[in-house]
Amino acid sequence: MKMPAGRECPYFYGDYFRGKNAEECRLLKAQNQIWTPDLCKTCPVPDIARANSCQFMRLRTTIARPLSAFFQRRVQVRAFCEKASRDVPEPQIGCGECHQLPFDFEVKEN
Ligand code: SF4
Repeated sequence: MKMPAGRECPYFYGDYFRGKNAEECRLLKAQNQIWTPDLCKTCPVPDIARANSCQFMRLRTTIARPLSAFFQRRVQVRAFCEKASRDVPEPQIGCGECHQLPFDFEVKEN
């Protein structure tokens, strides 16, 4: 579903049926954090979800205001692989457990 900033996000839910206007982020809600629509603008989760759909990767979020009060609150993400039981430093790429990195390319001559 498209979130308020216009990108597809698998965790955004909006209910507009019969005049309702209920919106929520189910990722932040599951981690007991308070969602506001402005967080979607800079959130890295849609890009991560588009790049990597690994079923074993879990995203843990925190909401932080970087450096000082002048900056907007932002969603910060840490990824963890349940299969490899380790942190995933590059969530867009994955941990490499299921798909070895770097990929092996084979060039065949005809
Ligand atoms: S805050 Fe991030 S994860 Fe939540 S709905 Fe917005 S874009 Fe999706």
